Amino acid sequence: MSGEIFIDIQRAEKSRIDEVDLQNLSFGKEFTDHMFVADYVDGKWQNFRIEPLRAIPTHPGNLAWHYGQSIFEGMKATKNPQGEVLLFRPDMHIKRFNTSARRMCMPEFPEEVFLKALKVLVELEKHWIPNDKDAALYIRPLMIAWDPHLGVKPSQSYKFFIMTLPVGPYYNKPLNILVQTQYIRAVEGGVGFAKTAGNYAASLYPTQLAQQQGFDQVLWMEPKDFRFVQEVGTMNIFFVFKDRILTPRLTGAILPGITRDSIIHILRDWGHDVREEKVDILDLVRAYERGDFVECFGSGTAAVIANVQKLRYRDIDMFFPPDQWQLSLKLKDYLTQLKRGEVDDKYHWTVKTTGALNQLVHANDA
Ligand SMILES: *Cc1c(COP(=O)(O)O)cnc(C)c1O
Repeated sequence: MSGEIFIDIQRAEKSRIDEVDLQNLSFGKEFTDHMFVADYVDGKWQNFRIEPLRAIPTHPGNLAWHYGQSIFEGMKATKNPQGEVLLFRPDMHIKRFNTSARRMCMPEFPEEVFLKALKVLVELEKHWIPNDKDAALYIRPLMIAWDPHLGVKPSQSYKFFIMTLPVGPYYNKPLNILVQTQYIRAVEGGVGFAKTAGNYAASLYPTQLAQQQGFDQVLWMEPKDFRFVQEVGTMNIFFVFKDRILTPRLTGAILPGITRDSIIHILRDWGHDVREEKVDILDLVRAYERGDFVECFGSGTAAVIANVQKLRYRDIDMFFPPDQWQLSLKLKDYLTQLKRGEVDDKYHWTVKTTGALNQLVHANDA
């Protein structure tokens, strides 16, 4: 199919890049000039196009707004020292997007078109990619229901978008985290593994309560006795012991992070004993008291690796001072270098966008 994918490009008359300070970026505010759009009508995806980013009129009866058929992805593009653009593990992001789609009763988006769209859009927007090593071009694919007819049923029509945003660091300080012992994020059999809108809406209130107590994020736990760890905010979590590293196993209630997967591969490659298992918070407390539990960090595309400096479980505070951070900093450096093509890509995780736009222009002309 790849030779036949037609993507129509309508370029913005004028770039807004001069209005943005690429040296001083926050996360999520600035969008680039263009977006990719596709329509699902009559049972198939069509009208693949790139057009200037703009607001689109939406009927107030839109099913996504009422009942939440809405999924997304989050990935990053960076430049290597030669100035070529690299996507990080786009295949895994595409597969996860379609896993989310199936769970939410939404149509899958064809993998080949998805990859092509990512490459062409990012290549078109590559002048927006900041150079700073903590910065990147964040890529946000989104699919939402589009039917304007009320009724709790799957929509017949959908829209698919890819937006891109130049971003700086997600967190610019280490995190204080509160173990949540009242609210839950997800249960086995639910939709915790899907990047779907409702998961994030449901997390806002408990997170706000934690923030009012001076915490940055909450650590979500399994329901009922709140003893087994799930994940934190929009990140997976790792606990570094002196002789091993623990991370909660994937139960269906946890988002299967691609950063998580990458870290597990890298750490095992470095000879560490990494265990994906049920992590009991009481075991963590005991290990902390013994002096065995020395580092704690979150992992995700947006933050890469976020160090935890304080973890509170009920009335127990666990502290992880910066002078104890070793593995997390080493990992963060390595992952950053890998994404920027500064070290050998031995896992074949990066994908170049080089030439994608030229190939497309030829295909469109033909
Ligand atoms: C996206 C996300 C993550 C991290 O996944 P990555 O693929 O590493 O970016 C973790 N938890 C939640 C809830 C998420 O939405």
